[in-house]
Amino acid sequence: MNRPLPTAHLAAPQPRPGCAQCADLARQRHSARERRDHSAETDCNVLLRRHLGEAHA
Ligand SMILES: [Zn+2]
Repeated sequence: MNRPLPTAHLAAPQPRPGCAQCADLARQRHSARERRDHSAETDCNVLLRRHLGEAHA
């Protein structure tokens, strides 16, 4: 139930070049990953995916 998903990072949304909000979320996700904060990393993925759908769809 609580196993890490090996495909999770493959499904992570990709920031669009030249977008400040994408860059900001990507930076937050990167620092969350560096401190092994998986819930913050997941939050950033959710926010980035939502932003991509709203701003880049
Ligand atoms: Zn963006």
